[in-house]
Amino acid sequence: MTAAPTIQAPRLGEPYLLTPGPLTTSFPVKQAMLRDWGSWDDDFRAMTQEMRDRLLAMLGAGADAFDCVPMQGSGSFSVEAMLGSFVPRDGKALVLANGAYGQRSAQTLAYLGRDYVLMDKGDYLPPRGDEVARILADDPAITHVVAIHCETSSGILNPVEEISEVVYGAGRKLLVDSMSAFGAIDLKVADVRYEAMVSSANKCIEGVPGFGFIIARKTELEAAKGNSHSLSLDVHAQWAHMNKTGQWRFTPPTHVVAAFLEALRAHEVEGGVAGRGARYRRNRDVMVDGMRALGFETLLKDRWLSPIIVTFFCPADPNFDFARFYELMKAKGFIIYPGKLTVVDSFRIGCIGQMDEHIMRQVVTAAKESLAAMGVSDATPPALALQERAKLAA
Ligand SMILES: *Cc1c(COP(=O)(O)O)cnc(C)c1O
Repeated sequence: MTAAPTIQAPRLGEPYLLTPGPLTTSFPVKQAMLRDWGSWDDDFRAMTQEMRDRLLAMLGAGADAFDCVPMQGSGSFSVEAMLGSFVPRDGKALVLANGAYGQRSAQTLAYLGRDYVLMDKGDYLPPRGDEVARILADDPAITHVVAIHCETSSGILNPVEEISEVVYGAGRKLLVDSMSAFGAIDLKVADVRYEAMVSSANKCIEGVPGFGFIIARKTELEAAKGNSHSLSLDVHAQWAHMNKTGQWRFTPPTHVVAAFLEALRAHEVEGGVAGRGARYRRNRDVMVDGMRALGFETLLKDRWLSPIIVTFFCPADPNFDFARFYELMKAKGFIIYPGKLTVVDSFRIGCIGQMDEHIMRQVVTAAKESLAAMGVSDATPPALALQERAKLAA
């Protein structure tokens, strides 16, 4: 066992961000930004290379068939770069949506003018292998399938292994949005086959926002030449330029890269993906147990709960008011997140960032005190919420 990592509390008066990125970062990560770097300088080029190498290493055995291409902008810029670069203009994508991020991928393809079909499972039901297989069998024009690893809008961990098997069984290619999962949940190339995946600096690696990265099979990177609709979001061009010169094509977010490198080193010290994932699972378990003891119910049954973010139903008690709950929690030092369900009221609590189980116990205490301040004696959700949940198999 590695030693327990040291969690860096935010500075006095700064709340914890119980949100899926931006999230609470360590002091050394913030401190790494207190210096300027020349983008063309050897020192910064070495930083970019170290970052790419460290990210690739997380793929485990077989990673040498892949390369890592960082891309300026928030995570959605990298998703757009991936879709526009790897789905050829005459290709067709099947997007597996069960929340806002799946919908966003479909919307991105619509903007790009790429042909696509959407399998929409609503707010949170997982796309299953057999359903995907049926759609692929019925539509031979589909070349690529787009899957969301952890759909952050409900917190569900989608079955990407199962999806990958049917995609390749049908001779198609898989692209994965692992934005909120990568770094805490394995996506080893020996276990799950895919052509490309995307994530960003401000999620499970615990950096600050400013860029994302695409990790793709080298053969796909070669083949992507000329596909992109966009100059700045062309993954092939960024990759080719970076491999030739060691530089980003356009101004890199130098301070964000420096902070991210610090975050990657801390990630390694914590035990890599396994260590990071273990802390987040513990955060989730302690927080969910505590919230359930107050009467709260999770949207998802345990099997589908990710260690990234958890959706809770709002209590049925008419005294409960989310806006008030949010302010009370904030006053106690915790920023929570509104829910994204369309059918019933909900809110979300993130488990990622510089937080451990001790902090999560404080979160539960803060929730208990906030309920008391509103005059809510029991956090049980309305019957409608529980009926909704019954749709999801264990
Ligand atoms: C965070 C996130 C994104 C990207 O969102 P940005 O706001 O552009 O950073 C994309 N997909 C998923 C699943 C996410 O969690």
